[in-house]
Amino acid sequence: MSTLLEVSGISVTFDGFRAINNLSFQIGSAELRAIIGPNGAGKTTFMDIVTGKTRPDEGRVIWGEKSENLLKLNESQIARKGIGRKFQRPTVFEDQTVFENLLMALKKARSPFDVLFYRRSGHDRDKVEELAEEIGLKDELQRKSGELAHGQKQWLEIGMLLAQEPRLLLVDEPAAGMSPVEREHTTNLLVEAAKTRAVVVVEHDMEFVRRLNCKVTVFHEGSVLAEGSLDHVTANQDVIDVYLGR
Ligand code: ADP
Repeated sequence: MSTLLEVSGISVTFDGFRAINNLSFQIGSAELRAIIGPNGAGKTTFMDIVTGKTRPDEGRVIWGEKSENLLKLNESQIARKGIGRKFQRPTVFEDQTVFENLLMALKKARSPFDVLFYRRSGHDRDKVEELAEEIGLKDELQRKSGELAHGQKQWLEIGMLLAQEPRLLLVDEPAAGMSPVEREHTTNLLVEAAKTRAVVVVEHDMEFVRRLNCKVTVFHEGSVLAEGSLDHVTANQDVIDVYLGR
């Protein structure tokens, strides 16, 4: 599997505090990865750097087959490269239906040039139905998004990101506040999504991470403390010490 994103030796200092400290991280083009670590470990700042929201003081962020330097691009240029981010709180349009939300996301994904070739609305309808099937909301297409259950809203937002065909999806705590059934569906959704793109999940819930059954990277004090299977990293004495606050 080829490397899609390579971050090397990045550091960020906020008011004298080193939030990211010589951090290196790589992800392959069709890989599911969980990032765990205590509060303040730098997980959010890392995602902010990858998406261009925060600039590192040093280091490199390299993208894709052409090894492009993402640090030369602004946030919207990075998004257009195919990096999507899902924040914890869903940002769907509540007074619009599921169908309308997905359609809007599809249209947003297109450049004005593409629009010339996508005049037929039948094509859009098929694509929206395909996405709704993928996220498990096929029977809810005509419902207002504001009426959806918490989990369904999260899936809708994932669907809206998938509509934009990202090559890398960054997802912040997707299982928070979900019922066991919703968690299971979310697991399947992310595992499925990672078959054709890279998906990075930041998650505190270890049971959820276990279900993802993927490689885990442990962040601590702005760098990578351990990496490997969940069993491997949770057996690491440094990781145990960090989680027990030693
Ligand atoms: P995590 O997501 O792992 O909880 P963060 O990336 O949010 O960690 O934060 C890492 C550290 O950087 C924390 O100590 C946090 O207080 C600090 N930090 C994050 N953003 C800022 C900022 N804009 N200004 C000052 N300190 C910040």
